[in-house]
Amino acid sequence: MQRTDDGQTVKLSDYRPTDFDLHAVELTIRLYEGRAAVRAQLSLSRRAGIAATVPLRLDGDELTLTSLALDGEAVASDRYTATSDALIVEDLPESARFALTIETELVPEDNTQLSGLYRSNGIWCTQCEAEGFRRITYFLDRPDVLAPYKVRVEADKAAAPVLLSNGNPVESGDLGDDRHFAVWDDPFNKPSYLFAMVAGDLDAVHEPFTTASGRKVTLGIYTEKGRVHQAAYAMDALKRSMLWDERRFGREYDLDVFNVVAIADFNMGAMENKGLNVFNHKYVLLDPDIATDADYAGVETVIAHEYFHNWTGNRITCRDWFQLCLKEGLTVYRDQEFSADEREQTVQRIGAVRRLKAHQFPEDQGPLQHPVRPSEYREINNFYTATVYDKGAELVRMIATLLGRGDFRKGMDLYFERHDGEATTIEAFIACFEAASGTDLSQFARWYAQAGTPTLTVREAYDPAARRFEVTLRQTLSEGAAGTGTAPMVMPVRFGLVGDNGADGDPAGTVCGDARIADDLIVLTGKSASVTFENQPSRPHLSVLRDFSAPVTLDHDQDAASRLTLARLDPNLFNRWRAASDLVGDALAEAGKDPLGDSTQPLPDAVIDALLASAGDDALDPAFRAQAIALPAEMDIARQIAVKVDPDRVHDAVESARQQIGKKGYPVFERLRKGFDPRAAFSPDAASAGTRALANTALSYLTAATQDPGSALRQYDAATNMTDRMAALAILAHHFPEEPGTATALDDLYRRFEHDDLVLDKWFALQASAPSHDAVEAVARLAEHPHFTLRNPNRVRALVGTFATANQVGFHRPDGVGYQWVADKLADLDTINPQIAARIATTFRAWRSFEPARRQKIETTLRDLRDIKGLSKDLRDIVERSLK
Ligand code: ZN
Repeated sequence: MQRTDDGQTVKLSDYRPTDFDLHAVELTIRLYEGRAAVRAQLSLSRRAGIAATVPLRLDGDELTLTSLALDGEAVASDRYTATSDALIVEDLPESARFALTIETELVPEDNTQLSGLYRSNGIWCTQCEAEGFRRITYFLDRPDVLAPYKVRVEADKAAAPVLLSNGNPVESGDLGDDRHFAVWDDPFNKPSYLFAMVAGDLDAVHEPFTTASGRKVTLGIYTEKGRVHQAAYAMDALKRSMLWDERRFGREYDLDVFNVVAIADFNMGAMENKGLNVFNHKYVLLDPDIATDADYAGVETVIAHEYFHNWTGNRITCRDWFQLCLKEGLTVYRDQEFSADEREQTVQRIGAVRRLKAHQFPEDQGPLQHPVRPSEYREINNFYTATVYDKGAELVRMIATLLGRGDFRKGMDLYFERHDGEATTIEAFIACFEAASGTDLSQFARWYAQAGTPTLTVREAYDPAARRFEVTLRQTLSEGAAGTGTAPMVMPVRFGLVGDNGADGDPAGTVCGDARIADDLIVLTGKSASVTFENQPSRPHLSVLRDFSAPVTLDHDQDAASRLTLARLDPNLFNRWRAASDLVGDALAEAGKDPLGDSTQPLPDAVIDALLASAGDDALDPAFRAQAIALPAEMDIARQIAVKVDPDRVHDAVESARQQIGKKGYPVFERLRKGFDPRAAFSPDAASAGTRALANTALSYLTAATQDPGSALRQYDAATNMTDRMAALAILAHHFPEEPGTATALDDLYRRFEHDDLVLDKWFALQASAPSHDAVEAVARLAEHPHFTLRNPNRVRALVGTFATANQVGFHRPDGVGYQWVADKLADLDTINPQIAARIATTFRAWRSFEPARRQKIETTLRDLRDIKGLSKDLRDIVERSLK
């Protein structure tokens, strides 16, 4: 039996199936003010070969048993043991099926962890992934135990006119006493983590959808009262997702209804429960007045992601939690492909790579390092990570790159055909691509087992007399905290040989060493290999790792002239962006680390000219141009510096770069502003969003150049949508904190949107991210604000999370007060919601990379946290691993 008790480690190698099979589940949930009564009837049988002396052991978590019956008869008290976290029943039938009826009582109102059954603004809802179902009833709470569920919900009619669960609605009616009931039937076998129930006074919008084969589905989105008009875009995104999955992967929806519920208090983004997705309302509710373009893109992605899980996660699920990337990496890959098709390919890829480098690379290079498929954990909630999700998606992307689109699709088809209805493993997934393509992927599978970011070293040599260009590739992986090995991996490296005119030359080359080449793809399989290109009349500019074809750190000692040429002319737009962004990143890392260097002019003129060339090129997509001129985040620069980081210096370098670019690019930015009409009607489409992004980036540079907040103040006042309003307000709050108009604008936002929690989150987050040594006093004051609460995860993330991750100057104040404040908040939060406390605590993991004084202060903070008595296992796990 797998257990996750305090201090105990669960190991992949210990996996074995359950002793009992589960055949069907019938649940009755009775909801009252202040309590809920749950009756679970489980149809079970002993598995063949399991001795009759073996008891049934069910998981629980903070449960109270009120009654237990076997085949309708009360079970004698000497035949079972019930504790809050387990129910053990002895003397069960040797082979026949039996029905166990378990009754438990809960207090959803007291459930502040938001796992299991809880109440959010009066709405009863559940969250069961990963181990929340055991907080509702005793159960074989693991993903390889699948069964059909029939669920009956009873509640007061006025408090909960809407009663929802998984599957199809089959019955509803009156119970008298102002109470009513509904029965839901989910015919698909599912694990307990996909169970859901929602009951409350909700508004709804419904729309019909007909699948490719003619199934009529009713789509529903449920919201808190008065907000359903904000669900229109989510509904549109849902329909587009359904169509896309039919076209791209041949996957249709399979029930009569598909419901989405938007909830205010939610630990994560959203949850893919079968037929009843439950969302953090941040990823459903939108209108132009409250939401930015980034929010629209987020809703579209998350709606798609959860919908896509119906096939990759629900129809085919995970055998155990070590296989989490089987559903998450694959589903992120699918949602990224959807966004690339719905929006713009290169811009989407740039965004995904930025996120990977900002979140996954630091995780992979620090003490919390773990493989995409971990082999052990103490607390599974701490493994919903960038590595499992985003690196997991990169691995699927590499399979697609290696196989090509056709064979990749064949492999996916085979996966759906072979494993539909099963709980399976990464091995089974990979085997489908091997079978469909005839490719041996056994070496590739190391990507799932070996943690760490490999370095791809690229060296080049040109012999003009022989007209020969030679490229040497070498891969290295150093052993990190996970200790999972450093054997060479299969690395797909897309490339091009760019001429001075910006055109790709013939990529035909000859390989020497452990690699192969086909068209524009080199696949490096050994530690090193070289590729020779003949008939090169002049030295080509090597554009390597196009589209970020492998999740590696690139070490390419290319000369400045080639880098600048690629930054202007690379026909692969992703690499054009990366060439420029690496030039900027390298220069800022230099300026940010050298205590004697000149950090007031960090960027060479030629680099700025290359950025401005892209920004000013009207032939390019505006969203791409905005990305091309955006500076790297301070955290990314810090990661590049890697040792003895001083966040104040990094910040100063970035600030000087903004002013430098603003001054040099003044005419370009002015021209970009001229073509921009802030009063144009709002449309959330990608092209319009790109235009706004470019104009707002230009505004930021113009104000940096002039040091005059006037244009930002005017834009704040004139803005007709939240994107333009927030862009202006961010410039004011971050760069003109002393300007009286800044406080007025912040106040104005507060007063206009005080009733809207999603805008209030923005208001808190914007102030929490304002870079200053006084920021800790500011966030401490905001924590006393009547609208601040540790009970709402979005609010906590907006204030504490933003300060700890997006305010390098404030959080890393040299006296350590920033660390202390965050640690104090986390200690309080840990008693309310340990999952969120543990997640925010990961910000301390980078402590070893800072200069000695800060490094020591963070270490002390972590040690003090570790020594707190009664710390949750979630937070303890993160703190202890960070210190290792
Ligand atoms: Zn997911």
